[in-house]
Amino acid sequence: MIAKSADVLLVGAGAMSTTLGMLLKQLDPDINIVMVERLGHVAHESTDGWNNAGTGHAAYCELNYTPKLPDGSIDTAKAFVINSAFEVSLQFWSYLVKQGALPKPENFIHATPHQSFVWGEANVEFLRKRYAALSQSPQFADMEYSEDPRVLREWMPLILENRDPMEPIAGTRVRYGADVDFGALARNMTHYLQAQDNFELLLNHTVTDLEQDDDGQWQVALENRKTGVERTIASRFVFLGAGGGALPLLQMSGIPEGDGYGGFPVSGQWLVCKKPEIVEKHQAKVYGLAPIGAPPMSVPHLDTRIISGEKALLFGPFAGFTTKFLKQGSILDLPKSLRTNNLKSMLSVGKNNMDLTRYLISEAMQSHEERVASLRNFYPDAKDEDWELANAGQRVQIIKKDKDKGGKLEFGTEVITAADHSLAALLGASPGASTAVNTMINIVERCFPERLATDEWQQKLKEMVPSYGESLKDNDELLKRVRQYTLSTLELDQ
Ligand SMILES: Cc1cc2nc3c(=O)[nH]c(=O)nc-3n(C[C@H](O)[C@H](O)[C@H](O)COP(=O)(O)OP(=O)(O)OC[C@H]3O[C@@H](n4cnc5c(N)ncnc54)[C@H](O)[C@@H]3O)c2cc1C
Repeated sequence: MIAKSADVLLVGAGAMSTTLGMLLKQLDPDINIVMVERLGHVAHESTDGWNNAGTGHAAYCELNYTPKLPDGSIDTAKAFVINSAFEVSLQFWSYLVKQGALPKPENFIHATPHQSFVWGEANVEFLRKRYAALSQSPQFADMEYSEDPRVLREWMPLILENRDPMEPIAGTRVRYGADVDFGALARNMTHYLQAQDNFELLLNHTVTDLEQDDDGQWQVALENRKTGVERTIASRFVFLGAGGGALPLLQMSGIPEGDGYGGFPVSGQWLVCKKPEIVEKHQAKVYGLAPIGAPPMSVPHLDTRIISGEKALLFGPFAGFTTKFLKQGSILDLPKSLRTNNLKSMLSVGKNNMDLTRYLISEAMQSHEERVASLRNFYPDAKDEDWELANAGQRVQIIKKDKDKGGKLEFGTEVITAADHSLAALLGASPGASTAVNTMINIVERCFPERLATDEWQQKLKEMVPSYGESLKDNDELLKRVRQYTLSTLELDQ
């Protein structure tokens, strides 16, 4: 029997909705939650194993989080925000493991050193300065730096094989980085939720419309994709955690806070290698610098991945042009999202980002040999026949109004909430699943303020995330305590 009403209706069964469901169920075990997913499985869009890179983004290795400023110094602000947010995820996952709500960490997270690698004098200088700027702080104090090929060969043997000995090179390493199988994590969380009272998962159901009635409840229309049967569920609160599908739903909701938003979809592909003799030689996530003119999500990296116990290597991403908002979406997604209130911003972003569009089209047109040639910048001995192409998930970048240019393109994530706190939507895709817990706590703060103010919820949140409400940047003792606890609980301290 499908529920007719709920306290909370979560649209989508990816990293975001499952995290919000888990948080709310811990805060209030009696809360009535319905999760609606259009596909027949949980987490089969961006959150699934090979659809993303599985990097637990902590800003240890991602050079695009620390841009060089015009005066030559390094802007580290974003790195601290992302590092702190990832620590929140690690704490929540640790709490769930301790409670038995998540299985052993090896089922979803693996210690994988996070390393950066650059070549050429100017890039070496950049990395040296980045290291100097970050490593002063306790959050990044364990970062190591080297320009010595012998040391770097130990850290990243494949990358050092047959490299020009005259070329200046440098690398950094943080040993306790993570590779996360976000698909496994979301499925395990859903598994737990399904075992609780007052939780219902509806697979193969698409949310087709939503409307707020006079007493503030949302009437959410669903269609069963197998039978075509339509029904409506009433809910006090709705979360649009539909990944690329969130924008059209936000538009359907008609909340004024959603006016003017548009989406710019970007597809992704990887080169994947499963040959054991190559896979065994690389045990790290090694991030480089994005080519000049490339968007931030195109930073190349060579990664160890462990998905369903199988170890492999991933190189990419190769971005591409698409009009689909979801991997299993429709080519009409982009044109159908045009509205009078976002037309100006969409057209202006289209006009001002022709270089990006050209870049995405040229990326999509590359041959296998050309892709392996870019891999050889990283791994000089790579052979065409050892790698195959795999399709990743879609990212829908945010387009919003800009009073000077008409519209602007953003590469982060944004939470949009209705003024009456009855609805929240998540747009954008970066830094993504790694910071899901922090982002979902932010939604709880914005949409459940009265309940969050109670001692009960405050205490529970502190129990789940011991650093909640405090700054890890400014409290060394807290950082040390929290790190020891999460790294040992999640078995990342090897
Ligand atoms: C190429 C690539 C690489 C990435 N790398 C990383 C990384 O290394 N680290 C990281 O932290 N993040 C990474 N990300 C981002 C990360 O994957 C996403 O931020 C995260 O998975 C988003 O989760 P979600 O729940 O919002 O969306 P999704 O996982 O896409 O889930 C949304 C769900 O909603 C469902 N849905 C959509 N519309 C409807 C509807 N109308 N009715 C019902 N259900 C609906 C979809 O079927 C889907 O299952 C990457 C993403 C991509 C594409």
